Amino acid sequence: MGIVIEPVASVAPGVKIREILRIVDPEPLLTPELLTLGLWIAEYYLAPVGEVFRSMLPLRAESRPQMFLSLTKEGDEQLRQLEASLLDEMRTSELAAFLNHVRGEGPSGPGVSVESLRRKFPASAHPLIQQAVSEGWATTAEVEKNRKKQEVWSVRLSGPALPEHPVRLSPVARRIMDALASEGSAADHRELLKASRASLAHLRKLKQQGLIELGKPGGDEEASFAPADLPALELNPAQVRALDDLSGLLASRQFHPVLLHGVTASGKTEIYLRLITRCLEEGRTALMLVPEIALTPAVERQFLSRFGGRVAVLHSALRENERHDAWWRVRRGQARVVLGTRSAVFAPVENLGLVVVDEEHDSSYKQEETPRYHGRDVAVVRARLAQALVVMGSATPSLESYFNAQEGKYRLMKLEERVAGRSLAGVEIIDMRQEFRETHTQVPFSRTLRAAIEAELASGRQIMILLNRRGYSWFLLCRACGETSRCVNCSISLTYHRREHRLICHYCGFAAPVPTRCPACGSEYLHYVGEGTEKVETKIAEMFPQARVARLDRDVARRAGAYQKILANFRHGEIDILVGTQLISKGHDFPGVTLVGVVSADQGLSLPDFRAAERTFQLLTQVAGRAGRGEAPGRVLVQTFYPEHYAILLAADQNYEGFYSKEMRFRRMMHYPPCGALANVIAQGKQLEGAARVAQQIEKFLAGVQASYGLRVMGPSSAPLARIKGWFRIQFLIKAQSRARLNEALRRLADECEQRGIAPQMVRIDMDPVNIL
Ligand SMILES: [Zn+2]
Ligand SMILES: [Zn+2]
Repeated sequence: MGIVIEPVASVAPGVKIREILRIVDPEPLLTPELLTLGLWIAEYYLAPVGEVFRSMLPLRAESRPQMFLSLTKEGDEQLRQLEASLLDEMRTSELAAFLNHVRGEGPSGPGVSVESLRRKFPASAHPLIQQAVSEGWATTAEVEKNRKKQEVWSVRLSGPALPEHPVRLSPVARRIMDALASEGSAADHRELLKASRASLAHLRKLKQQGLIELGKPGGDEEASFAPADLPALELNPAQVRALDDLSGLLASRQFHPVLLHGVTASGKTEIYLRLITRCLEEGRTALMLVPEIALTPAVERQFLSRFGGRVAVLHSALRENERHDAWWRVRRGQARVVLGTRSAVFAPVENLGLVVVDEEHDSSYKQEETPRYHGRDVAVVRARLAQALVVMGSATPSLESYFNAQEGKYRLMKLEERVAGRSLAGVEIIDMRQEFRETHTQVPFSRTLRAAIEAELASGRQIMILLNRRGYSWFLLCRACGETSRCVNCSISLTYHRREHRLICHYCGFAAPVPTRCPACGSEYLHYVGEGTEKVETKIAEMFPQARVARLDRDVARRAGAYQKILANFRHGEIDILVGTQLISKGHDFPGVTLVGVVSADQGLSLPDFRAAERTFQLLTQVAGRAGRGEAPGRVLVQTFYPEHYAILLAADQNYEGFYSKEMRFRRMMHYPPCGALANVIAQGKQLEGAARVAQQIEKFLAGVQASYGLRVMGPSSAPLARIKGWFRIQFLIKAQSRARLNEALRRLADECEQRGIAPQMVRIDMDPVNIL
């Protein structure tokens, strides 16, 4: 399947042309605006145009109508002639076999699918189909694949968990019961079946035995997310001003980029919702991007309750047919508001009036595979093409966006107060070096944090504990020889996960059993180093046995429905202490939380990444913003070994401007973005020699063009993660004053690599990289 971009009069020599067999879509799937956008992305991010368009269209072959071929009378006649022919080679000819195959599936059904013909005649299906159709031997028809909507059930235990239960169970049934016991319930029976490798029959049996209940999913969630959660909000004067200004820009029907810098809990979402309402009233459509939809069920709920059936939600967690349906509702104009993650920036809305990019600083807007586009930056380009208003909101804007606002490229709007006159939480820094000197023990919790947790628990309030590292321990260390547990595919240590009792690689997923003796020297003195969320959760539960403790990180979120369930339980006060990674810092609104404890603020600071300080500042400010959103004021305790680091000090002060000007001095001096453009080029190969050879060629090319394009090249050097998933990686960081010049140089580099026959997967070019490890 291909996409026609434009007709051309002639083609370059050597370019192979393929005949258009037939047109799949009666009208173009991509609007002219999206076509232009796609071509821009291909050019700017140096990605093959086909891959760009493929990622813009959520439709895969499975969800498309299938093409079938059936034999006509003439085809039947032709086949008979071939068969009747006395010549053996005729009888065995490929054409005869082909027509025979088409007939075989023949008269009763719709014919044979093109897909199956391709399988049967891998080398020649295409010309054979073309011949059969043009000679009139076969006709094509489109048949909607039978996409029967599968019913989804929620599953829950009807009685106590297993150990107390008298009934004898098969191993499969036991797996189901165990899974349910650890989850509480499952919202989607298919996920449960997958996890416990069971079939529907097993579920039915358990239901007959009265051990489980099956129901319509969402019943519970609906009730707990009732509109009562949404009080009639009065806007404060700052919100009213911002909304008025934005409405004015919206009404102008011109391109306006706006950075909305509002402190945490300043009521940005309410402004978005009202602005979208106005946009719809003007007869236009609106698009809102959020970093990760699973993380913000509250936003989805608000959208549905405000805009009902006019909303389409687009994100990668949707099932194929759900996404297909949502996409078509947008394309047909039935849904005029789109809420979604990064790729929703390609939603086929027409007459676009408004694009909102919430939490614009979030790194998940950057796609880390080809095409490596940045959702926020693409949103700005799209708004420009549509002459629309684009609002980028954050409590901790990216330096890039704030710089653009300072330069006058974006309009800056501020919300400096929290709603309902609530004050920002007070942040205290706890020096863990001092703590160690005084207590002579290295424990995850300082005495202050411990006492604070105790006090909050006593007064019946809720607590969040942040540690941005999942797993139980960071790695396993042999005290006798110094050997550490390392991944076989990546240059990274394996994290110990206690629940699975395995050592797991967070990059490639490689898992190994936990050794009892050192594989290198045979010593028994193996030591678990460092703590992750799993360990902190365990420790907290030990320290405060009376508290109800839960954990939220990627390991937990992987389980079906677990994420929503934990958030809902926490919201309803059924959990006292929530331990988690940065997942708990994102945009949540829990009015009962008065204390936020950061176990270690230093986690990201030592990474060899020029954005380390910015990320730490953002994380601390965001998580501090979770405290004191209700009636009671909030308190934040930040434990650190670098209490004098400016990212930590300024986050404690919630002083964004202070951080910006300090960090900008460093960026300016080092010519890092936003003070100049940056690209990350990686030469990689399964063999180190291969990667090195490619790196050499890149080095030579860059040396030749460096001066004329004004580039500063750092490298080649081993990438900070020198090996990932078995690939060796050699890195070049390329800086330039002008983004356009850098882009030109990279395009020449890409051409050069292609001409030299270097395999595309061996050169990774990342324009405006977010991740440089
Ligand atoms: Zn050892
Ligand atoms: Zn690995």
